Amino acid sequence: MTPAIRVAEPVLDGNESRYVMDCLESSWISSRGKYIEEFETRIAEFCDVPHAVATNNGTTALHLALASLDVGPGDEVLVPTLTYIASVNAIRYCGAKPVFLDSVYPDLTLDVSQIEQKLTSRTRGIISVPLYGQAVDYSRLEEIARKHNLFIVDDAAEALGTKFSGRPAGNWGTCATFSFFGNKIITTGEGGMVVTRDRDLADRLRFLRGQAVSPDRSYWHTDVGFNYRMTNIAAAIGCAQMEKIETHLQRRQQVARWYISHLAQYDSLMQLPIPAIGTHHSYWMFTILLRPQLGICRDRVIGSLAERGIETRPVFYPVHWMRPYREQNGKYNVAETYAPQGISLPTHGRLNKEQVKYVCEQLVEAVEMERRQGTDVDEFRRAA
Ligand SMILES: *Cc1c(COP(=O)(O)O)cnc(C)c1O
Repeated sequence: MTPAIRVAEPVLDGNESRYVMDCLESSWISSRGKYIEEFETRIAEFCDVPHAVATNNGTTALHLALASLDVGPGDEVLVPTLTYIASVNAIRYCGAKPVFLDSVYPDLTLDVSQIEQKLTSRTRGIISVPLYGQAVDYSRLEEIARKHNLFIVDDAAEALGTKFSGRPAGNWGTCATFSFFGNKIITTGEGGMVVTRDRDLADRLRFLRGQAVSPDRSYWHTDVGFNYRMTNIAAAIGCAQMEKIETHLQRRQQVARWYISHLAQYDSLMQLPIPAIGTHHSYWMFTILLRPQLGICRDRVIGSLAERGIETRPVFYPVHWMRPYREQNGKYNVAETYAPQGISLPTHGRLNKEQVKYVCEQLVEAVEMERRQGTDVDEFRRAA
């Protein structure tokens, strides 16, 4: 059964179908065509950087970025353990070693203050992640990276529209990557982008994206490249999405304001995603953290919301808990404490005020119910 209220939904109410039809009718359906460059230009302008290189998804954008920075075997790259798996897999694809960082509460972004203690002679750079659209402390991050000559790849897959000190995500670091999967801020179906102000890096990204073919001799390959190209059809959808980017972003802000107006009074039950001063949250996901001391079973709350027709999602599991990256003695307090308490509520541009109110009422009821049952179990134990 499809839940009545989905956790994410794309909004395709602009020129998407017109531009896709244009691709079909003109037969420009593969990875050449006017929409690709147009989409790259629009994203570059939005991020206020000179270069953008479109890819076929956000994971390949990350891999392409690291490959273009010559990350390879023997290298170490710092990355928060609390992130989507793609941030970490991209390091492994290069044969390099991910070195995990904890995150800060309540932002759930990487703890920049841990970077220096994790550096070794092999450390090449950092993958930062503005998780769920919450800004990273980019000014401290850049300061540390500069001091130790490290690159920063900002995995901004969830952060189109996020800002720190007035500068957008995409504008920070050596380069930044985006994803345009169907549940992201804007979508191209599948798609990604690397943005940078470094001209040489942009050239390298384009070169490796297209099989590393020699610029002056076709079918002559001077490196091991990839086919990570975006199609003109995907870019056509992206162009239509970018025409309405401000509307897409504003709708999310509205949804977040509705959530805050209903949930702020339940501070004793949950922490809300409030942006730090000087930052702007894109609200890719409105993610709440249940207070750990209440001992509420997060997954049962998710289950009872599902029964009420509300789809939610758990916060990402710390990556060092999962088989390919397991660390027996890893200690990442914030990630380990709060990831199991986190729930991302439905956050997308098609939600209306009544739906958000309904989600809040049901959430509070489900949490209260869990809390009572938790207490009942304890009382039962004491009595036994
Ligand atoms: C979605 C996402 C990606 C990967 O994007 P895909 O387009 O699904 O490959 C990478 N990192 C983060 C943090 C993401 O949320």
